[in-house]
Amino acid sequence: MRAFDLHIHTTASDGIMSPAEVVRYAKGKGLRAIAITDHDTIEGLQEGIQEGNKLELEVIPGVELSADSLKGTMHLLGYYIDPTCSELVDKLMVVQRARVERNLKMVEKLRALGINIELSEVKAAPEHGQIGRPHFAYTMVQKGYAHNMQDAFDRYLRKGGPAYVEKFKFTPQEAMDFIGKAGGITVLAHPFTLNQLQPKDLEALIVELKGQGLEGIEVYYPEHSEGQRKFYRYLAQKYGLVISGGSDFHGLAKDAVDLGEGYGDRELTYSLVEAIKTRREQRVKVL
Ligand code: AMP
Ligand code: FE
Ligand code: FE
Ligand code: ZN
Repeated sequence: MRAFDLHIHTTASDGIMSPAEVVRYAKGKGLRAIAITDHDTIEGLQEGIQEGNKLELEVIPGVELSADSLKGTMHLLGYYIDPTCSELVDKLMVVQRARVERNLKMVEKLRALGINIELSEVKAAPEHGQIGRPHFAYTMVQKGYAHNMQDAFDRYLRKGGPAYVEKFKFTPQEAMDFIGKAGGITVLAHPFTLNQLQPKDLEALIVELKGQGLEGIEVYYPEHSEGQRKFYRYLAQKYGLVISGGSDFHGLAKDAVDLGEGYGDRELTYSLVEAIKTRREQRVKVL
């Protein structure tokens, strides 16, 4: 059993377990530390930390942000953020507001395509997570506009599809700036989703991000091959970045990766968490 899992979602974003449930579940699995890293929100942190204090499980306050990237998908994890930092709270509010606007635009697009759908119906969909495309897909199936949710995505909602509306994203620089202002450490999540097929291109990107404040790389992740882990670990060491790892747990759905599982060598130890903590303490001293 691994000692930590530093990439976990709760019902505050698109996970299935509440923060307190996640903490109890992790405790039951014998983990020593977890990070709660919900998409674009810190709303689950207080509950998670409280439960962690009760059960004596270390809960690192985190967040996962989507950032602009020329290729692929860039997600940035912020660890040890102060959830009361007003700049952080304001920036996350920008994302929430953008999501509301986007949902309205998607309703308009669908209606223009002859799909008679109301935002109130979409909001009432029993899908979990913040209101978004899965809620639209569910509603379209209910109303007979799609055979199933995948069909709704394939014909309308997929990226580039006729009802798709681009999502708001921060530039990496801006995201790392406000994570830093909230006292956090920014770690590049699952680097393979950047779709940088040439190792030297990924290396150049990491160097660029480091120049903008990047402090770590998520080396251990369920979808990373042994070769990828090796390369990411090499890059982290070469550029003095901390190493992170986690399951990206969203809940115990069929075929889902379990909390504390699937992301790397059995011998991963708590020293990795200590290295992140040390890095943060050194930074706090400098500030
Ligand atoms: P949103 O945040 O509103 O863009 O919705 C993102 C969610 O939609 C993802 O977490 C997936 O669950 C789902 N999703 C995105 N693209 C597809 C796709 N092509 N097919 C099926 N589901 C998708
Ligand atoms: Fe997610
Ligand atoms: Fe992610
Ligand atoms: Zn995630």
